[in-house]
Amino acid sequence: MKKAELFRHVISYFELTRPIAETELNYRNSFELLVSVILSAQCTDKRVNMVTPSLFAKFPDAKSMAKATVDEVREYIKSISYPNSKAEYLVKGSQLLVKKFNSKIPSTIEELTSIPGVGRKTANVILSVIFNQPTMAVDTHVFRVAARIGLTTGAKTPLQTEMQLVKYIPAEKIPLAHHWLILHGRYICLARKPICDKCGLTKWCKYYNQPVKAEK
Ligand code: SF4
Repeated sequence: MKKAELFRHVISYFELTRPIAETELNYRNSFELLVSVILSAQCTDKRVNMVTPSLFAKFPDAKSMAKATVDEVREYIKSISYPNSKAEYLVKGSQLLVKKFNSKIPSTIEELTSIPGVGRKTANVILSVIFNQPTMAVDTHVFRVAARIGLTTGAKTPLQTEMQLVKYIPAEKIPLAHHWLILHGRYICLARKPICDKCGLTKWCKYYNQPVKAEK
């Protein structure tokens, strides 16, 4: 099957089964989303959502967080992974937002990735969710699911996955497609053992149709 055809089938499947797909992080504005995405590195959204209400009650914006000490912020996020470095990112990142961006979240990948703790994946999430730009943030779920289905071929890095996906997914569908792949990876196409009998992609999935099926 040609790549374009495979993408068409997969997009149609998700459009039917997940017409609404959104981030599972709780946030009320772009600052809160940025903070939550930074906190979600190597951590589940569920756990991040448990610490952010009290964190945002104390530090509701970049200005208040910029004035905090790393120790103060760490107290609020100590139950999530890497609290020391993440607390430092939040304080330094907020200081930069205040100083360089007038406390606003910037809208280009270059500006976003100049913020401490913000890599390409985080920047792409912000561009996609807040600014509705056709950027594909590649996390571990997107990377794995895209490769299993066969949407990507031989991609070794998140950037290669991103480039291959954006080549075939229509621009207006990319923000949604990002969430389709994440949610599919989180609930159906699990890393250790994909639940293929609950998946409607078996007809097209490269992993499912490979000759050796012993691991399924
Ligand atoms: S068929 Fe199985 S391996 Fe393929 S996408 Fe579905 S759950 Fe994942």
